[in-house]
Amino acid sequence: MRVIIVGGNAGGASAAARLRRLDEKAEIVVYERGQYISFANCGLPYHIGGVIEDRNQLFVQTPAAMKERFNIDFLTGREVTAIDRTAHTVTIRDVATDNETTDHYDKLILSPGGSPLRPPIPGIDSAGIYSLWTVPDMDDIVRAVRAGARKAVVVGGGFIGVEVAENLREQKLDVALVEMLPQALAFLDPDMAAYAHQEMEIHGVDLHLGDGVKAFAKNADGTLTVTLSSGKQLAADLVILAIGVRPNTRIAEQAGLAIGPARGVLVDDHLRTSDPDIYAIGDAIEVEHFVTKSKALIPLAGPANRQARIAANNVVGHDDVYKGTQGTSIVKVFDLAAGATGANSALLTKLGIPFRTVTIHPGSHAGYYPGSTPVHIKLLYSPEGKLLGAQAAGYDGVDKRIDVLATAMRLGATVDDLTDLELVYAPPYGSAKDPVNMAGFVAQNDLEGLAPLVRPEQLADELAKGATLLDVREPEETSCGIIPGALTIPLSVLRNRLEELPVGNKVILTYCKVGLRGYVAQRILSQNGFDVANLSGGYTSWEAMTTQGIEEQPVRPEREADDQQVNVSGPCPTAVASIASPSAAAAKTVEIDACGLQCPGPLLKLREALASTAPGDLIKVTASDPGFYADVAAFAQGQGLEVLDRQRGKVITATLRRPLQATTSAVVSTVPGRADDHATVIVFSNDLDKVIAAFIIANGAQAMGKKVSMFFTFWGLNVLRKDESVRIKKTFIEKMFGMMMPRGVNHLILSKMHMMGMGTGMILGLMKKYNVAPIEAMMRSFQEGGGTFIACTMSMSLMGIHREEMIDGISEGGVATMLADADQGHINYFI
Ligand code: FAD
Repeated sequence: MRVIIVGGNAGGASAAARLRRLDEKAEIVVYERGQYISFANCGLPYHIGGVIEDRNQLFVQTPAAMKERFNIDFLTGREVTAIDRTAHTVTIRDVATDNETTDHYDKLILSPGGSPLRPPIPGIDSAGIYSLWTVPDMDDIVRAVRAGARKAVVVGGGFIGVEVAENLREQKLDVALVEMLPQALAFLDPDMAAYAHQEMEIHGVDLHLGDGVKAFAKNADGTLTVTLSSGKQLAADLVILAIGVRPNTRIAEQAGLAIGPARGVLVDDHLRTSDPDIYAIGDAIEVEHFVTKSKALIPLAGPANRQARIAANNVVGHDDVYKGTQGTSIVKVFDLAAGATGANSALLTKLGIPFRTVTIHPGSHAGYYPGSTPVHIKLLYSPEGKLLGAQAAGYDGVDKRIDVLATAMRLGATVDDLTDLELVYAPPYGSAKDPVNMAGFVAQNDLEGLAPLVRPEQLADELAKGATLLDVREPEETSCGIIPGALTIPLSVLRNRLEELPVGNKVILTYCKVGLRGYVAQRILSQNGFDVANLSGGYTSWEAMTTQGIEEQPVRPEREADDQQVNVSGPCPTAVASIASPSAAAAKTVEIDACGLQCPGPLLKLREALASTAPGDLIKVTASDPGFYADVAAFAQGQGLEVLDRQRGKVITATLRRPLQATTSAVVSTVPGRADDHATVIVFSNDLDKVIAAFIIANGAQAMGKKVSMFFTFWGLNVLRKDESVRIKKTFIEKMFGMMMPRGVNHLILSKMHMMGMGTGMILGLMKKYNVAPIEAMMRSFQEGGGTFIACTMSMSLMGIHREEMIDGISEGGVATMLADADQGHINYFI
């Protein structure tokens, strides 16, 4: 038997090797149009980033090795251009010479993969625009980077785009990532993709979501300008296109083989095409989705390799069935991993398949063992409990949870089955109730009606129907942000404060940080006669859904440049012994693990630790709240501590030292500069009169040589809003809030005597008459004079005001940032 295989990479090479193992006598010839066979395309982005240093590591096999080991002819530089099904021959073009030959087959296996999409965007063929699909593509990109490219634009936020963005950042390029959809990594639900957005922002990737590329233009100096649909323009030395892939079906189509509705080669469950002597596998075929049974293109290496084995088995006469593709996949996003298996919400919704979801945020291992970080897990299941999909994101343990869930799903598991799984446990690795068990418990409670759930995206509807939202977290947590409109009663005192809750038919929606205390509160309230649902995934999921992760402490490259302590991608230090302390002999190091705590939890822990230190002592703190990165610096400044080290990676670590000058155990403020050099204005109000006063004072203080910061909180945030409406995804409540509040300084009204606009108009007229500069001009001159506008991040969450809605040139900060500023001056105004 003579078997010809088209394509010598993932599927083709695997099929060839399997065939040989099954049939020592078969003649096996593989035609590969490129120069390389069996190369690790999944590794290409990591050679660009220098993580896989040695390029040769990417070549898993060579034609010579395949000949020697398997007696298989791998002929490179040969493209199969046609199939004659009647004659059982293929036409082969020698890529170097263009000569054509034919070859006879008894059985043919097509594994030609796919090709990257290059839509007809103006300027797309300009030099400097690359795809990443083959080794030569990778070599071109590496050359461009080595030639000194500084700015890259990656178009497409799928897993290849995200991997390339990360690896170009590894090479210290400024990277913008443009994605037409409102989210990157479309295999995830938006609330899960939010964690990836946040991770990319933290590592300096400039995200442009919900914006497509309109045109590329080559400039005279060789650089490129990328114009987006929104009108934004991005400068680039190189552009990577990663907008998707289409299956290579040309020769199959021309040979009259059936093509499926998703435009891939159609195969049966034995991976046979419409011609019984021709099999097809890999990215070129459409597969049956394991969960939905719909036809789909799922270009992944695992399925291609498994299909190769099955096709080879069937070629030699076995009866082997391919049971569909689940789409189990994972991607590294800097320090974060994001993975999924089965169907996501978009697919289930599109196909009209009913489903329910739960989201949980347990620790990756026992919380009392160091280094535990949250694993965000989302389960999708049918109303009968059958597992339909699972997604996870986090810094640790994501791969094993997705693999367990993928296996369970493959074996037809229900959420009940997840509660029965016996999984490994020792403190460094997991918990006695593993996150997978926990997800099962929560879903089981949901289905049994013991603890009904409301998903974050349903919250606005439930509130519109009159539900009461109840936040049961502790005050330290709620002070960092609550869902607008929520009552706050900590779980610890809930039993004693039941009379504060509405009675009657009103539904109460409980929530906490991740869902667990919300569930406990729900049980207390249900057993006291209330009708209660718990918010799935708690505040964490709500925040992920509403912000898509991109508003949380975004740190853009330009901000980093001003920040002296930044090391955006370095690993977290584990020891501080090497940091020289002036009093090394006597100094001690206090270590604080504040992972899992939200603002102000880590700050409170720091304060506690500070009380037990003496001058010269070190405090090493680790926290997982992204906002802590800015807050720890502000805290240190306010407390007169030296920041020896501050790093952001999987978690945030900082090492602070109490200066030796301090002689008592009391905390000493040693702020550089003269204290009376500074003034702080806290703008709480959005009343026109008060805001005018605020700017007059701020500009006046600046004129007197002071360094002034203006901290905008609560209603005051409206002063920083842009005049025009900004298209941004918001929840119902956020939209309502947004509509009811003034949009920027031109919409402010007087606190008194507004008189349907007459009073406000008169004041503005008088300002003009008496030459008082308009507020906008005062704001401009304040900024030009070196003043800083700080938007309170906690108020932003509370009021549902997003970063994009605010004017340029402001920074975001928490209470520690404001207090640090306030500490530097004798003058602090609250307006
Ligand atoms: P390919 O591996 O693409 O092989 C097809 C081969 O056929 C090519 O070598 C091509 O030159 C050759 N060919 C095409 N037409 C002809 C012709 N007419 N004649 C002769 N030869 C022809 N998947 C994952 O699961 N995880 C990952 O992390 C991952 N990362 C990736 C990163 C990158 C940068 C890329 C490009 C892909 C990644 N993939 C990943 C996808 C994975 O590589 C593919 O799903 C897999 O390689 C598909 O195997 P295949 O055999 O169908 O196609």
